[in-house]
Amino acid sequence: MKGLAPKITLAFLFAIIVTLLLYSLILNQSIDEQFNNYIHANLRANNEKIASALAYAYIEDGGWTATTGVDISTLVKYDRISLRVRDINNFVVWNSINLHYDLASLFSLQSNNDTTTISYPISVNNETVGFVDITYFGIIPLSDLDSGFRISINKSLISTGIFSTIFAIFLSVIFSSGITSPLTNMTKIATQLRKGDLSQRIEVSSSEDEISELANAINHLAETLEKEEKLRKNITADIAHELRTPLMTLQGQLEAMIDEIIIPTPDTLASCQEEVERLSSLITDLEQLTSAESASLELNKELLSLTDLTRNIVDAFQSQYKAKNITLSFYANKRCNIYADKGKLTQILINLISNALKYSCPDDKVTVKIFYSENNIILRIIDTGLGISEADLPYIFERFYRGDKSRNRETGGSGIGLAIVKSLVEAHQWKIDVASALHKGATFTITIPFNNIYQDNYD
Ligand code: ADP
Repeated sequence: MKGLAPKITLAFLFAIIVTLLLYSLILNQSIDEQFNNYIHANLRANNEKIASALAYAYIEDGGWTATTGVDISTLVKYDRISLRVRDINNFVVWNSINLHYDLASLFSLQSNNDTTTISYPISVNNETVGFVDITYFGIIPLSDLDSGFRISINKSLISTGIFSTIFAIFLSVIFSSGITSPLTNMTKIATQLRKGDLSQRIEVSSSEDEISELANAINHLAETLEKEEKLRKNITADIAHELRTPLMTLQGQLEAMIDEIIIPTPDTLASCQEEVERLSSLITDLEQLTSAESASLELNKELLSLTDLTRNIVDAFQSQYKAKNITLSFYANKRCNIYADKGKLTQILINLISNALKYSCPDDKVTVKIFYSENNIILRIIDTGLGISEADLPYIFERFYRGDKSRNRETGGSGIGLAIVKSLVEAHQWKIDVASALHKGATFTITIPFNNIYQDNYD
């Protein structure tokens, strides 16, 4: 069977029919029981009536005669009941089988197993004057009214069953299509998404059931895919743009040399080499960015001293800082052991400390600090340099974003450094913030939470 709808319909039907069958069985059983009780009570009342009619005939006749109460046997013979009256000494007064030929022939066809006999005492003034043996066919004789009632109950049970089954089929089809139609809709949307139309979304109903959850998950997936797709397109455009500028310059210079407009001198060749270097550093940056963005998958964490590692990097930068006449200082807590990927942490520090150098002027100060705050270790790089404008501040961690374009041509940045830092920081599940204002320096703060910190730090 293909499709979910027929399967759900069948499951519903099966459940409903089984319930109906069980219900009918139980109902039938209990009706039977009630009906039997009623029949027995009826029978008892009838029999008592016969016994008291015979007692009345006894009183009328002043004792038993061969015809005392005989007319009663004529009355009940149509109900196929035979009566035998005995006196107190058990002598048979009369027997309706002997009186009615047709009843006798009817009873002679029956075996004893098919008849039931009940004996009743006949009492006059609380004294037993005889007995009546009442014999009838089968276990319980049903009057026409009784059997009619029984048949009509059975009929209505059967017709209710048939009607309920038809109604159940109808409901099952409605319910199953109610369940499957959102799924069919989702399949349609998912197919459109697969074909590349990432703008498609599923309408989510307000009910918080599994189907709405699935729809939300698909919508979320579509949103992520759409964002990724936009990002991919943007990156491709950015990379193309970044590659084109140095290549065009290079091409222009080389063409001019070929056309002998410029003569190749060491200076012109050096400028060509500069462009080639820009290209190769851009490619290195791109490689680093790619590996930074997949860093969370391949972090190689180890227990290391943040203080020692930072101090070594600061020391390595000192000569470059001195050359630009910028002071680089370092302050740290004695023990700051953390779990981190050494190579990636080194890259974070290099990018931030080199940015501080790039965007500071002679006589500026750069301070690298490591300290505890509540349950975190804080790594802070503070510079008194050029600072970042309010307009640039929200974007500086984005790929290829460069604060002040003209300034950056000079510094030769590609706008990838901070994107790499952010990816690496987040891969470690740390946090990075920046506080800055134009001409007022910049402060980059990395927060390393407690679960990354080696307990021994507090001893
Ligand atoms: P790049 O430095 O290669 O341009 P980054 O991603 O490292 O790229 O930085 C992005 C931008 O953020 C820079 O272009 C610059 O405008 C700004 N920036 C980064 N660090 C600093 C800093 N310490 N001081 C001032 N501006 C900064």
